Formats: sequence, structure tokens, C-alpha cells
Amino acid sequence: MRLFNKQDSIAGMGCDPRYEVLFEPVRIGPVTAPNRFYQVPHASGMTNALPRVRAAFREAKAEGGWGVICTGACSVDPSSDDTPLPFATMWDGNDIRAHALMTEAVHRHGSLAGVELWHGGASVMNRTSRLPPLSPSGIPWMATHVGFMGNLRPKTMDKADIRAALDWQAEGARKARTAGFDIVYVYAGMGYLGYEFLLPEYNHRIDEYGGSIENRVRFVRELIEVTKDAVGKDCGVALRVSLEELRGRPGRNQPSEAHELIELLADLPDLFDVKMDSSPTDCSASRFTGEGSHEPVIDFVKTLTKKPVVGVGRFTSPDTMVSQIRRGVLDLIGGARPSIADPFLPAKIREGREAEIRECIGCNICISSWHDGVPVRCTQNPTAGEEWRRDWHPERVQRTSRPERVLIVGGGPAGLECALTLGRGGHGVTLADGGSSFGGRLTFEKTLPGLAAWNRVVDYRLGRLDEMPNVSLYLESALGVDEIMELAPQRVVVATGARWTNMLYTSMEIPVGTLDHRQVFTPDDIASGRLPDGPTLVFDFDNYYMGGVLTEHLARLGISVSYVTPAGQASAWTIMTNELPLVHRALAERRVPVTTLHLLKSFDGETATLTHVFTGEEMHVACRSVVIVGLRKPRNELYDALLARADELKASGILGVERIGDALAPGAIAHAVHSGHKLARELGLVLPSRPYRRDTPIVDAEDFDMRAAAE
Ligand code: ADP
Ligand code: SF4
Repeated sequence: MRLFNKQDSIAGMGCDPRYEVLFEPVRIGPVTAPNRFYQVPHASGMTNALPRVRAAFREAKAEGGWGVICTGACSVDPSSDDTPLPFATMWDGNDIRAHALMTEAVHRHGSLAGVELWHGGASVMNRTSRLPPLSPSGIPWMATHVGFMGNLRPKTMDKADIRAALDWQAEGARKARTAGFDIVYVYAGMGYLGYEFLLPEYNHRIDEYGGSIENRVRFVRELIEVTKDAVGKDCGVALRVSLEELRGRPGRNQPSEAHELIELLADLPDLFDVKMDSSPTDCSASRFTGEGSHEPVIDFVKTLTKKPVVGVGRFTSPDTMVSQIRRGVLDLIGGARPSIADPFLPAKIREGREAEIRECIGCNICISSWHDGVPVRCTQNPTAGEEWRRDWHPERVQRTSRPERVLIVGGGPAGLECALTLGRGGHGVTLADGGSSFGGRLTFEKTLPGLAAWNRVVDYRLGRLDEMPNVSLYLESALGVDEIMELAPQRVVVATGARWTNMLYTSMEIPVGTLDHRQVFTPDDIASGRLPDGPTLVFDFDNYYMGGVLTEHLARLGISVSYVTPAGQASAWTIMTNELPLVHRALAERRVPVTTLHLLKSFDGETATLTHVFTGEEMHVACRSVVIVGLRKPRNELYDALLARADELKASGILGVERIGDALAPGAIAHAVHSGHKLARELGLVLPSRPYRRDTPIVDAEDFDMRAAAE
């Protein structure tokens, strides 16, 4: 076994003077943010049905130093109903009480609480409320992805509808103030109602709300005015606006309509929260975009207004943040994903512990949670969403009173996270991996196009493990049962990962049979340096990133490659992570032919036979190699061997053998990290029969009139 040499660590030294500017207070109308760290509104999948889960999730960030903490989209009226996607509501007394849990939690740490009041306009289908969606001119958003499709077209708003929408906003603002919010939003972005008035494609009106930019801005102006009238003395009023499209349209007096919009509204809101227009560009994955990608669109805003400006850009580097402030791009550093991945990011900068920041990797698993309609999950931060229901704190782990000597076999994401959490809990940990570096699957995957930032999962954990005297790390240590017994741990955790198989797939949508041929490859072959030669066909029924990114990788290596999938799109599941449009673009740029809705039936070394999923019609593709990106199965030889010798293990003092991560159930990296964390938190505890606490909606309010006047 080779002992991994740890580096000398430097303890926290207090805030670097260069970063002190980030801790200056900023005035937002009648309220003051204690620093420049601003958790912008972001989807959390936590509706009013999960008020305690939500409050604890947001509280962790306030505790970690974010000066402002906002909700996600919060509907002002049942005519803005996005079900089955999760959204918050501000409709009645129950909602006020539900939100009050969050504002109280945020205030406990001296931070401000903001609420993103929202009307979805034509982009919602009102599946639950069954009210007609509203839109300036009856123009629908007709999405091409089934998760967003709907069959109900919006009603064109008349003057009474416009008046009503303004009243809902004002009522929502008053209710928000009662709930304890300090900042109240007007939302004019991301295809929602306010935005639809701004864009001529949605807004064909010939009255005072349509036509010129002044007229198209009128509804948004009125939303701000009614909000200020309602709560402006007590609360900061923020305008959240998408500027990407408008920035591309020449203005009459200004370089673009985005400039004209800001100029027209320059003095009105207390804060501008500026962003892109659609989720794939606004919340873009690191695979395709770097830190600070919004800057070219929003860089001008501060030149046209004296009001503070907040924006995002997956900022995790304090130097980049300071540069945004010094260069006059932003006043407040907006964070959604960086605050999910590390709720304690500001505290770590303030205390000179930048090296400890758990940097967001930009994988967008968090956004997939919203698309799935569940509370947020994060690859880097397994405690996200678990603060209340499992009592997991993002930084603290309860010290055990009964430390055990634990051997973890496998240093991939699951093993690393398990070692870190066990180490924090005070256990004596030995982490051994058979490879020459830690990281497991990421050792290869970080080398694939665009995935370098994903290795932050490894870097963060290795950095922390380095500082722990109770954790020993060993490389080039492939362990079998005899070696494990020799090491004599009290507990063995098997984190040996999974391997890709060469299984095929049927029209019943299940993997079946294998394709055995010397020119058939799996991603593991390519990871180990065994490359296909000649024209190569990638058959992908895994549907997440691997099929697409491996195709890109092979194309980059100069291999002539084509891509086939039984799904309707390449890397179909990446619609959930906002990556799908860019996956297609990347394959098109590499001139990779993409064949959808086809199964791979056979391959004889020269020809691959495909069949159409629905018609069964055959198609023949000349190729010399096939790469199957399909089913992964646990790498369980060690686990099975340990179980087979259970009596011997017991006799040698080993209390138990556990499995985590892909060795337990192959999944995304987020699953492996969560699995490793969970085992470590629960080791040695007597667990309750229910796996987690169940939240309940607040239903004790008397007023159920959703359109009642505010309290
Ligand atoms: P996960 O995502 O669950 O963490 P990975 O596949 O990323 O799984 O990592 C598994 C790691 O386990 C790999 O680094 C591999 O080298 C290591 N490994 C597998 N079998 C053994 C073994 N018998 N002894 C030591 N290390 C092993
Ligand atoms: Fe960042 Fe991925 Fe976590 Fe989202 S899930 S916050 S993108 S690390």
C-alpha cells in the first residue's frame, strides 16, 4: 500500500484585505444588506407544502454569511400556477405563515429576506387552478419538450385583467411584508408575464401597453409603482429583468432596447436584478460556459442607473467577485448555485478560508430537481435540502462518542465523501484506492470536453482530508479480503464503484442481452486507453451526459464517429440540466451524424444493424467499432467475497461490511456523494424507522379566500 503524502495546510488567517470590499453594506431602498453576498431568487423545489424544509434550507445560507436570502418564484394569484413544477404561493394567511418561518430563520442571522413575487403569464398552464393563463396578446409559449408542453392557450388580457394583475402584485407585496420580507420583487424575466409585455413577439397590443419600448415597459413600470405604493416605505423593491433578447435589439436613442429599458426605469426600483432570458443561458452548465458568462449582456446596467445592481455568473472565486465590483459591473454578488453548493461561502472568505470553499461544479443537478418537482439536490453539497428533514448541517457533523476504525475501499466521490464525513465525526478512517490517484470515475471524466470543473468534487474533499490527522489515505492499494483482514478495521465500507456493460436494449425499454465482439467498447475501455479504430458508432441508452460527451471526445481525437439513441434526442436526460440544446450544438459543430429513435440490434465488425423503435424497420450503418453507453452494474466482486467469508471477518473483529455509491446502486455523482455522506452520518446510530422527518403544510389560518385583501 502506498501512503498518500498530505500537504501542510494553512489555517484561516482572517479576511484577506483584497476581499474586504465584499463585506461592505449596501443600501436597498429603506433596508440595508449587511454585505454584498446576495442569494438571488432560485428554484428550490420547496413549495409552501414544505415550509420547514424550506426555512432550514434558506437559513443555512444566512448562517453561512449570505447578506440577502430570497425565495424562488412565489405566485401572486392562482392564475399563475405552474404545477407540476414546484412554486411557492402568496395567496392567503397560510402562505404568510409558511413564509414567516423562512423570514424568521433568515433574520436570526442578521440577513435580509427577499421574495420573488411572480406571475407566469402564458408560460404556465394552470393545471391545478384551471383558470385561463394570461398573456398580453394571447401568444402562447409552445415548448418542444414534453415536460413544458401544454394544450391550453392563454387569454388576451383586457384592461380589467391588467388592473387585476397589478392588484395581485400589490396584495402579494403587502402579504409579503406581513410575512416579514425585507425585499419584494417585481419579476419581468424568463418568459413570464412582465417579460411578455417587454417583447414584441409576445406583445402585439395597439393600446398604451404595446408598440414603442416606452409602451411595452409600461406594465412593468406599473408593477413597480404599485409595489412601491404598497410596501415601499418598509421594503426594498427589486426589479428582476432578463436582458439577453433586448440587448440584441437596436434601440432608438440607445445602443439597444435593454439600454432603453434601464434608462426608462433607472430611478424607479431600489435594486436591479439582471439576468439572461432562458434557463439554458441563465443557468448554464459549466460543460459549456465559464464563470461570469452573463457579463457581456448586463455589463452596461450600472452606467445608466445609480441604483444597486445584482447579477449572477456562478461566482465562486473571490477574485472574480472583487473584479465585478471594482470594474463597476455589479454592486452585489448574486449567487444561486454557489450558495447551494456552499452555504458558507461568504463566511469562508471572511475568515480567510477560501481554500475550503466547496465550489459549485456547474453540473446543474440542482436544476434537474426542479424539473423533477422535488426539493433541491446538489452534487457538491449532500446536505442541501436535508437540513431539516435529516438534520444535516452543511459544515458541522456531530462528533461520535464511540469512534470506530473504518476502512473505506474505493476513493471515488462516494468513498471520499464518506471518509470526509466520518473524519469530521471523529472516526479513525483509512481510505484505500487501487488506482494511482483519487477520484474514481472522475479521474477519467474530468478529462472529457467541458468536464474539468467537475473535479472540484475531488479537489474539495482531498483538500479537507489533507487536514485531518484521523484519516489516512492510501493509493495503489487494491484490496482483497486477506489484505482487509490484515488491516483489522472494525468496519469496512465498500465504495468500489460500477462498470459499464455491453448490454443491448429492447423496444420494451429494458436492457437485455450483450453484444460480444472484440470491436465493441464501453466507456471503461476508453477510460483505460483502449480506443476504437475506424468509423465508430456510439449507441447511447444511458441518456445522461456520457454518451454525448464521449462522442465529442472521440470526434476530438479525430475518430469518425456517429451517435445513435433510442430516445428522441441526443443525451435526452440533459434537458433536465439545461445542457441538451448545447449537446446538440456541440455534436453538430463536430459534424457528428445523430440518429434518434433507433435500437442497436447487431454488429459484425463491419456493419451495425439498427431498428426503428416504433416501426421495427432496419437500417444499416458501415462502421468498424461500436461503443455502448448503456447500463452500469455495481463492481461488487470485493463485497461478494467479503460476504462469502463473513464468519472469518467476524472472528477477526470486523463488525460490519457496508456498501455505498455506485457499488450499492449506480447513479449520478450526486447520488454517490449523498450515499457516502448518509452512511457516515448514520454510522453507529440507532436509526428511527422512518428515514427522514416529514414536513407538513401550515393549515391553521382562518382565511382561505385566495383573493382576500392583505392583512
Ligand atoms: P463512486 O461513484 O461510487 O464513488 P467510482 O467508480 O467513482 O465510484 O470509484 C470507485 C473507486 O474504487 C475507483 O477509484 C477504483 O479504483 C476503486 N476500487 C475498486 N475496487 C477496488 C479494490 N478492490 N481495492 C481498492 N480500490 C478499489
Ligand atoms: Fe452546483 Fe451542481 Fe450543486 Fe447545482 S448541483 S449547485 S450546479 S454543484
